[in-house]
Amino acid sequence: MSELSLVKGSCLCGAVKIATASINHHVAACHCSICRKWGGGALLGVECDNGVSFEGTENIGVYQSSEWAERGFCNKCGTHLFYRLKENHHYYIPVGIFDSKLDLVFDLQVFIEEKPAYYSFANETKNMTGEELFAMLTPPSSQE
Ligand SMILES: [Zn+2]
Ligand SMILES: [Zn+2]
Repeated sequence: MSELSLVKGSCLCGAVKIATASINHHVAACHCSICRKWGGGALLGVECDNGVSFEGTENIGVYQSSEWAERGFCNKCGTHLFYRLKENHHYYIPVGIFDSKLDLVFDLQVFIEEKPAYYSFANETKNMTGEELFAMLTPPSSQE
């Protein structure tokens, strides 16, 4: 068996710890108004499938941010822990909470039409509107 290295992280106060072996090394920024209100700015996140585990789950607060997704945070220090799709428990994790040195590429920005004019990232990325993102995420079977 090949060794799967676990990527680990934690919240600011250490009450919640996170580990995953399924991190996607592509970082995406979300400029939507909910992310910006949640964190005060664009959310920089990495996609992880459902292979995410937490320690200190009693310290995790969960906010239902939409019909399809919820957002987790440490209820001791307020660190944002995840954006999770309710249907398949797919996770998007704020990349700053990982402690391990990761080989990451920032190459996607979504909800680009909601990005305010007062900032812009200099990285060359693919940019998608919210509409384009949802069209990509909707499985073809649901169009039947
Ligand atoms: Zn904490
Ligand atoms: Zn967003």
